[in-house]
Amino acid sequence: MIAVRMRNKRPLHPKVRIKPQILLREVNPAWVSDLNQRRHGESHSTRCANATLRQSPRMASLADQLVSLLGPDRVSVTQDDLAAHSTDKWFASNPPQVVVHAQSTEDVSNTLRFANEHKIPVTPQGSRVGYVGGAVPLKGGIALSVARMNKIKEIALEDGVAVIEPGVITGHLQSEVRKLGWFYPPDPASLKECSLGGNIATNAGGPRCLKYGVTRHYVLGLEAVLADGSIVKAGGRCHKNKTGFDLVGLMVGSEGMLGVVTEATLRLIPHPPMRAMLSAGFNSFAEAANAVQRILGSGFLPSALEIADKFTLRAARDYLGASVTPDGDAHLLVEIDGQPDSVKGELQQLAKLVRELGCICLNEAMGDDACEAFWKLRREFSYSLRNTGLIKLNEDIVVPRGRLVDLVDFAEQLQAEFGFPVACFGHAGDGNIHVNIMVPTMDDPAIRERAEAALDKLFHQVIAWNGAITGEHGIGIAKKRWWRDAVSSAAHETHLRLKAALDPNGILNPGKFLG
Ligand SMILES: Cc1cc2nc3c(=O)[nH]c(=O)nc-3n(C[C@H](O)[C@H](O)[C@H](O)COP(=O)(O)OP(=O)(O)OC[C@H]3O[C@@H](n4cnc5c(N)ncnc54)[C@H](O)[C@@H]3O)c2cc1C
Repeated sequence: MIAVRMRNKRPLHPKVRIKPQILLREVNPAWVSDLNQRRHGESHSTRCANATLRQSPRMASLADQLVSLLGPDRVSVTQDDLAAHSTDKWFASNPPQVVVHAQSTEDVSNTLRFANEHKIPVTPQGSRVGYVGGAVPLKGGIALSVARMNKIKEIALEDGVAVIEPGVITGHLQSEVRKLGWFYPPDPASLKECSLGGNIATNAGGPRCLKYGVTRHYVLGLEAVLADGSIVKAGGRCHKNKTGFDLVGLMVGSEGMLGVVTEATLRLIPHPPMRAMLSAGFNSFAEAANAVQRILGSGFLPSALEIADKFTLRAARDYLGASVTPDGDAHLLVEIDGQPDSVKGELQQLAKLVRELGCICLNEAMGDDACEAFWKLRREFSYSLRNTGLIKLNEDIVVPRGRLVDLVDFAEQLQAEFGFPVACFGHAGDGNIHVNIMVPTMDDPAIRERAEAALDKLFHQVIAWNGAITGEHGIGIAKKRWWRDAVSSAAHETHLRLKAALDPNGILNPGKFLG
């Protein structure tokens, strides 16, 4: 059976006019069997309603049992709740039988102990803005939302830490610590919506990773509830800690399959008081990629180095107008931060270097407001691609940085071979480039098949270059098809053994990349 979901059901930007598209990527044969409870052609809400009716006897008793365990305010089977908790920002959806709105570690522990005893699938959920279907309750059961656990418990500047519950929105923590002159750097573009628990479970990144690292580098301590309901505390509030195995590292990026994060102690650093940026246009992607290497090779460590290719810039010109889009066939954004005097000096040196490297236009920004205007342009790239009317299959692959030019050349080969435009832009400093294969529809089986073949070719090339199939979004369902190619058999086996040790009944987030 085929799951159908309206893409872009909500406008993503007031300026964007989006024709609703039906996306059928769920027919990917590697995991379609996971979705076969669903009925072809039903609307999303009808599907949820029907699922509820079909499952009502079991659902009623499951909900009743959970109500007696947790209380009525924690348990929901309303159509709206079941529908909302059946999906994330990827293209798959499947309704849970019950939504549990945990409000404490104890609620999470009681839910998991009960689910483990009765072998009921549990899908942990934060804000459900993941990009890989990780929060989709593929096997039904319980959607365990920690969104209500959203307190910042403590900000202790003398220790350089914040202690948070998992449902705290990333941008909220950032702005609270910023008011105090401190900094929590991980900055996924979804930071106004996503939860810190979700960031921890996906090891989220963003543009600042080049200098500041990913979420893992900011998690000092964790409290997590394992599948059997036991509560594990790992790490703490010390900035160095080598006591035992790295259980914090094990949990970070585990995509809700090893435990549910119920509290985290996060590292804070002083906020750099000044930042500045360069926005440079180049005649070719190769020149812009060369500039990336030369900037780093000259002893600069920018906080961000973002690159965009020809197709992306053309789409931006069509959408935003030529006057605000930089000239050339490649664009580079460089951000630096630090003390005002050093930032000022560094900006001048960088501008000189970038001019020598052949940029054809260059703009500078000093201070928050001016820099935000540059970032606004960068954020518009995504909307510009959507404005083409094509569907964007956005893959957050990573290549070793020396392969940036090879990647874009390869994207052009893909374009020639499969007939789809390919737009590349992203975090050049990390080699983490969003490769967007732009397809007219996924509704036509022939086009869909060609798109899947193009994706196969892309992922296999990335793997052949010793790249990674995902830099920050995770594997979830979306990249399950390439998981076995991306890791050795021994690494896969190790994952299975860890999973079996911590979750022997396989109740936590079943159906994702470990099966
Ligand atoms: C517009 C947009 C831009 C984005 N930009 C970026 C970006 O720049 N960088 C980036 O890294 N990502 C980005 N993402 C992806 C997404 O925002 C991140 O993956 C984010 O970390 C998801 O957080 P969430 O709270 O929505 O998690 P959810 O989607 O709810 O869950 C994600 C995964 O984490 C698990 N999970 C959630 N909470 C917990 C918990 N407390 N304990 C255990 N497991 C849990 C779930 O089971 C699931 O597997 C973007 C998404 C959108 C929509």
